Amino acid sequence: MKAWKEIPRRGYVTQPTPLEELFRFSQRVGVRVRIKRDDLLPLGGNKIRKLDYLLEEAVRVGADTLITASTNQCCYNSMTALLASREGMTCRVIMESWGDTRYRYETASNHVMMELCGPEEVAVVTNLPSGPVEDMPVARRMAEEVRAAGKRPWFLSRGGSGPLGALGYVRCAEELLTQWGEDPPGAVICPCGIGGTQAGLTVGLRLLECSVPVVGIGVTGKSRGEMEASVRSQCQELTDFLETEPLPEEAVRCVDGYSGGGYGKPSREQVEWMRTLASSQGILTDPTYSGKALYGLCGLAAEGAYADPGGLVLLHTGGLQLFYDFSSLAEV
Ligand SMILES: *Cc1c(COP(=O)(O)O)cnc(C)c1O
Repeated sequence: MKAWKEIPRRGYVTQPTPLEELFRFSQRVGVRVRIKRDDLLPLGGNKIRKLDYLLEEAVRVGADTLITASTNQCCYNSMTALLASREGMTCRVIMESWGDTRYRYETASNHVMMELCGPEEVAVVTNLPSGPVEDMPVARRMAEEVRAAGKRPWFLSRGGSGPLGALGYVRCAEELLTQWGEDPPGAVICPCGIGGTQAGLTVGLRLLECSVPVVGIGVTGKSRGEMEASVRSQCQELTDFLETEPLPEEAVRCVDGYSGGGYGKPSREQVEWMRTLASSQGILTDPTYSGKALYGLCGLAAEGAYADPGGLVLLHTGGLQLFYDFSSLAEV
């Protein structure tokens, strides 16, 4: 097996995020809940764990212009723009317009944050084709322009997917193990978007010989089967990359039914649970990702799925810059 701890990263993540006990919220849910505060990571979310590895590679090859793609309600493009500036680079991003039609990205904080960093180009598309960023015609055109200007483009995977990005969550699994020590939970609950976060956590825990299951809550409206197939193949890519044993099929678990009206569209019940967490503990979750994982956790708790003493750990992936439109939350 590859010595994964030695794989270089930029060092943006300098310390473990806290694992906190939610005493008052646990009473409301009826199950012990702890929360892993990845919302407190630098720049506020899970993508920095992925970019810690991805930017290291970009710096190493001497790139000066990053090209990547993501959706309008994901923190990835804006975080890439911030980190590009931090490294003295620039970036061009492809942004898929998706989700709630009331979302006005031009004035949304996620977008404004990105614009402040001065990306060379933000290309808005309505339908992001699947497959690698470098195969997208718009990305190829961008790369040609960058090269013609005598600069060095570098493609980053969409949303930070792929084994190198997922490695960021192998590190998170290691933090969790140290933090819960002899008091493990019945399961770790996380949002499942593209699924790299879940794949990294799942592989990480197994690699460290921990049998606590990871359950991904779908945020896009995909079926459980579709999500599990996708996360499984990302786990496989990661175990291949690390030159270690593939995971058994049952190691990957996803749950559907908590994504409301689909990507970026929270249900009324979800917003109620977001309110309960905020009012009982002072912790905000976002409508697109962490709020859906929270809602899923509460649903699983209500089914009595994890009543054991360890309870549940919620991975809070951040996303507060996604509080795009408070009025739309009031309407659901
Ligand atoms: C991107 C994102 C996720 C989903 O992560 P995946 O690895 O794509 O599943 C969850 N939460 C937030 C805040 C995100 O920006």
